[in-house]
Amino acid sequence: MQQRRTPTFRARCRKQNVRRVAMVSVHTSPLAQPGTGDAGGMNVYVLNTARELARSGVEVEVFTRATSSEEPPTVEAAPGVLVHHLPAGPFEGLSKNDLPTQLCAFTGGLLRAEARNRPGHYDLIHAHYWLSGQAAWVAADRWGVPLVQTFHTLAKVKNAQLAEGDSPEPIGRVVGEEQITTEADLLIANTAAEAEELHRYYGADERRVEVIHPGVDLGVFRPGDQYAARQALGLPQNALVVAFVGRIQPAKAPDVLLRGLARLRETDPQLAERIVPVFVGGPSNTDLYWLPKLAGELGLGDRVQWRTPRSGEALAQVYRAADAVAVPSYNESFGLVALEAQAAGTPVIAAKVGGLTTAVSDGASGLLVDSHSADDWAAALGRLMGDRALRERLAAGARTHAALFSWQTTAEGLSGAYRRALLARSQAITLNR
Ligand code: UDP
Repeated sequence: MQQRRTPTFRARCRKQNVRRVAMVSVHTSPLAQPGTGDAGGMNVYVLNTARELARSGVEVEVFTRATSSEEPPTVEAAPGVLVHHLPAGPFEGLSKNDLPTQLCAFTGGLLRAEARNRPGHYDLIHAHYWLSGQAAWVAADRWGVPLVQTFHTLAKVKNAQLAEGDSPEPIGRVVGEEQITTEADLLIANTAAEAEELHRYYGADERRVEVIHPGVDLGVFRPGDQYAARQALGLPQNALVVAFVGRIQPAKAPDVLLRGLARLRETDPQLAERIVPVFVGGPSNTDLYWLPKLAGELGLGDRVQWRTPRSGEALAQVYRAADAVAVPSYNESFGLVALEAQAAGTPVIAAKVGGLTTAVSDGASGLLVDSHSADDWAAALGRLMGDRALRERLAAGARTHAALFSWQTTAEGLSGAYRRALLARSQAITLNR
């Protein structure tokens, strides 16, 4: 990337002090309700890291595409955190796959936002997901500031572990991710597994990849009274509850949980009879009836409880109400749901893929299943749901494991990474002189 040398930039580098960050999240707003459509862990990540960075004295301005005429152009999401809604295409009717066509309009808005301020308004730009990286690449080049990129998910990784019937990510996204991997000053990986994937699939230079774990709000997600939680959700008190929380889409494999439960009915009907599965979330680029239809076909239609997406204390109640939370995904760059469940003192049963091997401590805070077959999930569900002592031991370990993570630690990691990105820039400029 071209290195521009402005006096303000050189002064900043001498101090290596990041005062204001432009975060870019093109396709989804940190103000959106996660757990449905395109809103999920990335929204939670952007909001929480921005909030914690602001608490530490770094101002954050988030740029996202405007998707409603009712949104004001700028909203203060938290003290020191502004969210700007940039017009780029119609408010409704565009899917995520259509958004590459709007990157020109979005990037124009981003450049104009900085132009309204004094030069050097932003010290650094942090992009989330590949679409944002494309817009931020131009802006970082124009402003002469470092580009930091977090992908959250990677097309080549997703394509290598595709759910049955799921469509592969298009070549345009793959190429876009390759370009950003080359152009970014620094790539943030959620786990060592993601750093390795960046290297293996995209040839990322290991010296430009930093591993910083996402966090969890231990104040909101904390253990509590299961009886009260079940009452609030209208769930039976005498059942064994297994919850799935998140966007309902094939990549998250909610069907694997249903198939495992259906198989358990054959191998241990008495235990299966006591289990109530609860799904909390909404459809994400899938037919609304995909999962309920499957539940019906598997003979579980009258068992499954469906709940709409929710946040904060209401979501903490879901985790507390459950005896176990299932995360059967085909891939996760981290898996915030797994961490939140553990923080609330609930063991997790998760697929042994990607970031879930970091988010869950196998045998100490939950169980990892090394397959997506109905047989293996039935066996793991049978083991956990049929053994109260095991659940109690894992529940205690769950809170201990979750306490290793916090958004404050994530933001401290990001602050350090930002400083190093600035320093590396200033050294590159000095060398190029
Ligand atoms: N989520 C939520 N309400 C819901 C379902 C999910 O707020 O009803 C949040 C959940 O708390 C978590 C995020 O959505 O923070 C999902 O993140 P995860 O990393 O598990 O999956 P992703 O969406 O990134 O694939």
